[in-house]
Amino acid sequence: MIRKLLIANRGEIACRIIRTARGMGLSTVAVYSDADSGALHVEMADEAVHLGGSAPAESYLDGARVIAAALETGAEAVHPGYGFLSENPDFVQDVETAGLIFVGPPASAIRQMGLKDAAKDLMSKAGVPVVPGYHGADQDADRLAEEAARIGYPVLVKAVAGGGGKGMRLVERAGEFADALASAQAEAQGAFGNPSVLIEKYIEQPRHIEVQVFGDRHGNAVHLFERDCSLQRRHQKVIEEAPAPGMTAQVRAAMGEAAVRAARSIGYVGAGTVEFIVDGADGLRPDGFWFMEMNTRLQVEHPVTEAVTGIDLVEWQVRVASGEPLPMSQEEIPLQGHAFEARLYAEDVPAGFLPATGRLEHLRFSDLARNDSGVREGDEISPWYDPMIAKVITQGPSRSVALARLSRALEQTEVGGTVTNIAFLEALSRHAGFARGDVDTGLIGRDLADLVREDTPSVEIVARAALAAAGLDGDRDAFFGFSLWQPPSRRVELRRGEEAYSVVMEVVDGARVDLRVEGVHLPCRRRSSGWLIGERREPGPARLLDGAVVVFAGQPWAFDLPDPLERGGSATQAGNVVEAPMPGVVRRVLVQAGQAVAEGDRLAVLEAMKMEHGLAAARSGVVAEVLVAEGAQVAAHDPLIRLVPEDAE
Ligand code: ADP
Ligand code: ADP
Ligand code: MG
Repeated sequence: MIRKLLIANRGEIACRIIRTARGMGLSTVAVYSDADSGALHVEMADEAVHLGGSAPAESYLDGARVIAAALETGAEAVHPGYGFLSENPDFVQDVETAGLIFVGPPASAIRQMGLKDAAKDLMSKAGVPVVPGYHGADQDADRLAEEAARIGYPVLVKAVAGGGGKGMRLVERAGEFADALASAQAEAQGAFGNPSVLIEKYIEQPRHIEVQVFGDRHGNAVHLFERDCSLQRRHQKVIEEAPAPGMTAQVRAAMGEAAVRAARSIGYVGAGTVEFIVDGADGLRPDGFWFMEMNTRLQVEHPVTEAVTGIDLVEWQVRVASGEPLPMSQEEIPLQGHAFEARLYAEDVPAGFLPATGRLEHLRFSDLARNDSGVREGDEISPWYDPMIAKVITQGPSRSVALARLSRALEQTEVGGTVTNIAFLEALSRHAGFARGDVDTGLIGRDLADLVREDTPSVEIVARAALAAAGLDGDRDAFFGFSLWQPPSRRVELRRGEEAYSVVMEVVDGARVDLRVEGVHLPCRRRSSGWLIGERREPGPARLLDGAVVVFAGQPWAFDLPDPLERGGSATQAGNVVEAPMPGVVRRVLVQAGQAVAEGDRLAVLEAMKMEHGLAAARSGVVAEVLVAEGAQVAAHDPLIRLVPEDAE
């Protein structure tokens, strides 16, 4: 049995592996780069070894350094996670040469599956169906064009060394082939240092269904059923589920057998995934799936399989690596209920799903989900690595229950400090076709406009933001204070992009506020569980973050609090009297009576809503009177400083 395990990875997968290893009584060693010195996986592990610079090549991809770290700390085994060194057969060999155990398949199995063309030939020979296509060594452009014509358009050009959707081009007609080929080759050369491609028939209305397999060192191999990963954007998985919608016992058996045959044919050991492309045009058929590739590692979406089988795949990996036989036979592996996983990223969806960075000023997950994450509130999403924040995984006795939980869990997930794809994931989780199980890899692309549409906030959301902006989320004392010195009616201004919202607010008593939002009258009541807005529970909690109010309701609805002084009027409207724009405490008074001031000069600083607001002179003049002292508590519209025109003195 392995007693000490080094995890050669970072982020959520490192944390997830550490969690199981710890539960098995193992000691854990984390490795980290400069950028990750304070990361969660470092904190969770028993020991941590610094690898080097933030760039992956200087740290997580530096196999020699990783092996040295294992030897230094006395770890007996290395778990590679996914990505980085996980599918690098040379690394596996080096690990074994150093006398360590690699938690994964033998180098030979990785090599055989490493290139898509060789893997496909191998699979055909093993009797696993493969997509009709050309996998030859001849890479002459004319030859490739001939093969494409023979296969029949549309075709897919794929980098043989490809992964993550890179170096892949769909070609609809012969006239587009040459350009598509050149760009796929260039991308493949850049990403993998290998420009070779294969060509295969493009399956229309395809589904991506993959089978989780497991092998041990005693010649056993089983499958743990399928996952459907058809919800993809640009060949990247977005939401995965298990089992596949519409799966029948007959097709499941056929796919499972094919996957196990694939694993056996290469002497597979440990966890692996056999990916199939499936023709989803009219239902699943035992002859309607084809081998696409095998991922010789733990997969990002493995938790959905864990949810429906109750098996901890990392535990199995460690046990198999320790030499134990597979804990269950094929017949013993249970399949129950349904599970989904949504990949939550820091990304700017409206800007075209651009990866984003930022400090996670606020982070809360839903109790309805298993949230696999490698970050905490306060952590930085750095530009160095994948901007994944978490995987949100839900399960249920049926598909519709698990899916309802996914929508709700996403709705309850609160991320502040960076843009995220939560709204997109949530819209997707409510997509009618997806709900019916009508999934194919083109679903997201077809309905993208609807899925990324900027919604407008409901009046309840605006009301919730206004209550927070007015400082009414504080403790009861603050609330009573507010109601005592607050003028009976006031206005809260909020801005969201180009839209301005003006909310009229009237405090009735210590627990009741009447709001008027865009002509709608909303009596609000404060409960210990949150606000009751009109007849409804509050749409979600609100937080003050960085000069904005964010209501977390399905997505983060951010409203800027316009600096009341920017509106230009407030200091002059009251006849040269500078008023408090909102309730707060006067932190500083910067002028004295008799002092001449110019337009824009700061007169006083008001602290309100946990922020300081400078109060500036709206025009030049002389301070006639200072009406407050530093430290004074003031209400909105309280007069603070009186100015007179310069020539009046
Ligand atoms: P998985 O199902 O494990 O996510 P993918 O095919 O989506 O498989 O990704 C394959 C590998 O490529 C994973 O190890 C993942 O870390 C990495 N990967 C996924 N997306 C990207 C990307 N956009 N850029 C770089 N690497 C990626
Ligand atoms: P990668 O290694 O980049 O993940 P894959 O070969 O696994 O590449 O394919 C990625 C995705 O591309 C699949 O999940 C599927 O959506 C799509 N795809 C792959 N092959 C085909 C095909 N022959 N026809 C239609 N779509 C395909
Ligand atoms: Mg793939």
